[in-house]
Amino acid sequence: PVTRVLANRYSPGGAPSLDNFKVVSAPAPTKDSLKENQVLVRSLYLSVDPYQRGRLTGATNNYIPCYELNKPITTDGVAIVEASTSADISEGDIVSSRIASWETKSVVDVATLRKLPTGTIENARDFVTVFGMPSFTAFVGLTTVGKPKAGETILVSSASGAVGQIVVQLAKACGLRVVGVAGSEDKVEFVKSIGADAAFNYKTCGVFTEAIKQAAPEGIDIYFDNVGGEFLDAALTNINFGARIISCGMISQYNVKSADETYGLKNTFNILTKAAIFQGVRVSRYYGTPTEDEFMAEVGKLYKEGKLQYRIDETTGLENAPQAVLNLYDGKNFGKSVVKV
Ligand code: NDP
Repeated sequence: PVTRVLANRYSPGGAPSLDNFKVVSAPAPTKDSLKENQVLVRSLYLSVDPYQRGRLTGATNNYIPCYELNKPITTDGVAIVEASTSADISEGDIVSSRIASWETKSVVDVATLRKLPTGTIENARDFVTVFGMPSFTAFVGLTTVGKPKAGETILVSSASGAVGQIVVQLAKACGLRVVGVAGSEDKVEFVKSIGADAAFNYKTCGVFTEAIKQAAPEGIDIYFDNVGGEFLDAALTNINFGARIISCGMISQYNVKSADETYGLKNTFNILTKAAIFQGVRVSRYYGTPTEDEFMAEVGKLYKEGKLQYRIDETTGLENAPQAVLNLYDGKNFGKSVVKV
């Protein structure tokens, strides 16, 4: 049999729970069930990402559609091909998908897959970690909105996470002064160890505005925002003239019980007075564009040269994947969260 993780019920507001998911066992698909241009794959690694919360709200106006109830959860993933009816993909190939089903084995249309050119079992995980969607988000945000210039100061929230740790290191490589923010002492130490010039724990720092001022007395030229809410508001009081604010994520707001609980920003006037740019980033807009090739070239080069570290938080066993999702909103992951199937 195969293990599958299905969407069980929606939670419009508040924190998600294990009850949003259902882990079931089902008869394994066989190669006899393949239609033309399909493959039977065995999942290797599945990505666990904060945006999954939005897909469990049941909202019809989401920026990506909600998961269908009683259907498998999907995220980015990598798998190995066990049987194929396609001329382009063969048994043993490593493939990636942006809509990989949370199943131990699946029958998949080859049109939804990308064959990883130098994919081996050994490096399969890289395609949902260091070369995965969140790393690409970091690259896109920094290059298209951040437009870093050497000597400037960048503030990065959730700096030890999947996106944040790449932002810290790319910013450093561009000659910026980097200030990282994270939610525990261990994470703060890690952020410093990958190159941040200063870092602090937002849970123990006291007044956010003051903590930012202390860590960046020269002011903030770029703020890479992964959290939104009160911390974003505090960052706005510390921006320099011509600052760029990359609105990448608002994880502090994902689990509000209702829209009235959403944090109301008070310091947006600073965007005007500092002639700042405040721009949202959607990584999916850049899939299949030359920016993706630039990302692979640049991040690939740094990684190969040993100049890029990537911390991974690996959960073993598909049945434990729902808990890994919940951990993201409690800061229990330390590094990029993935499930080893
Ligand atoms: P992370 O690996 O950073 O994991 C989530 C982290 O968020 C937690 O470990 C925790 O770290 C922090 N966090 C949780 N709750 C709060 C809170 N209430 N206030 C502040 N921090 C909190 O996740 P990713 O790197 O994958 O994602 C980072 C952000 O980027 C998310 O907001 C995500 O939605 C967004 N994103 C956006 C994309 C886009 O296209 N725009 C694409 C990918 C991600 P800590 O212990 O430090 O609090």
